[in-house]
Amino acid sequence: MSKDGVLYIVATPIGNLDDLSVRALALLKQVDMIAAEDTRHSKRLLTHFGIDTRLTAYHDYSGERQVQHLLDLLMQGQNIALISDAGTPLISDPGYRLVRRVREAGLNVVPVPGPSAPLAALCASGLPTDSFAFVGFSPAKSAARKQFFSLHAASEHTLVCFESPHRIVASIDDAIEVLGAKRQAVLARELTKTFETFIGFSLGDIQQALADDANQSRGEMVLMIAPEPKPESSQLDAEAERLLGLLVNELPTKKAAALVSEFSGVSKKLLYQRALELKA
Ligand code: SAM
Repeated sequence: MSKDGVLYIVATPIGNLDDLSVRALALLKQVDMIAAEDTRHSKRLLTHFGIDTRLTAYHDYSGERQVQHLLDLLMQGQNIALISDAGTPLISDPGYRLVRRVREAGLNVVPVPGPSAPLAALCASGLPTDSFAFVGFSPAKSAARKQFFSLHAASEHTLVCFESPHRIVASIDDAIEVLGAKRQAVLARELTKTFETFIGFSLGDIQQALADDANQSRGEMVLMIAPEPKPESSQLDAEAERLLGLLVNELPTKKAAALVSEFSGVSKKLLYQRALELKA
C-alpha cells in the first residue's frame, strides 16, 4: 500500500455553516495540513468547528515553491485538505494547478463533495436541469457580455453563471437586449443564508424585481438562463406527425387532431396547431 499522502478537495459551506458535512469535519480535523485560499477567512470557519489543524495559504498565483512544498509533504506521507473561502474548491476558485501537479506526480486526489453555489442554485430554480453549462463569471464589460449571451442564444443547455452585485442590473439589461425579456431565467441570491431569494421566471421578471427593490441586487448571486423552448411541433413523434399529415387533407382540422390525439396520446391542442401549420 502506498505511503504517499492524499490531497483531499473539501467543500465548505456557502452560507449556512450546518452544511459542512460530517465527513468534511472529520477530515479537516484529521489531516496534517489545510491549504486554504485565504487563511484568515478560513480561520473563522475552522475556529467555529474547533478545528486546529495547521493552515497554509494556497492560491493559483502561489509560486512554484508552494506547489512543490505541498507535493513534498504529500510524498512524505502527509495528508492535506484543500479548501476555498466557500463552496467547492476549483469551481471558480483556486486549486486547478495543484490538483493537476499532484495527479501528474501519480498521487491520490480525493474529492469530499458538498456545497457549491451553481448546483444549489440550479436544483431549486425550476429551470431545465437535464443539461446545463456552467461558465463561471459572466464578462465584466458590456460588449463582451452581449457577445457572451449571443454565443449562448441557441444553446440547448441551461446557462449557469456567477454574477456580481455591481453588474447585475447592467447584465440583465444586456441579456434582454440579446435574448429578449421573455427568455426563461432565474436569479438565485444569498443561497443558504437568511435572505435567500429566487427571482424569475423570465429575464423581464428579474429586471422588474431589481428595479422595484435595490436590495435584490445585493449579495452573492447565480444567474441561470434556460434554453430557448423548442417549437412545439417538434415534440410530435414521427408517427403522429405522419398520421396527422394524412388525415388533415381528408377530415376537418379539429376532427383530424382529435383522432390522432386518441391514437398517439399527444394533446389535441398541440395537434390542432400543427394541423393548421400543415394546412397553411
Ligand atoms: N467555489 C464556489 C462554489 O463552489 O460555490 C464559488 C466561488 S466563486 C469565487 C464565488 C461566487 O459564487 C459568488 O460571487 C457568487 O456568484 C457565487 N456564490 C457563492 N456563494 C453564494 C451564495 N451563497 N448564494 C449565491 N451565490 C453564491
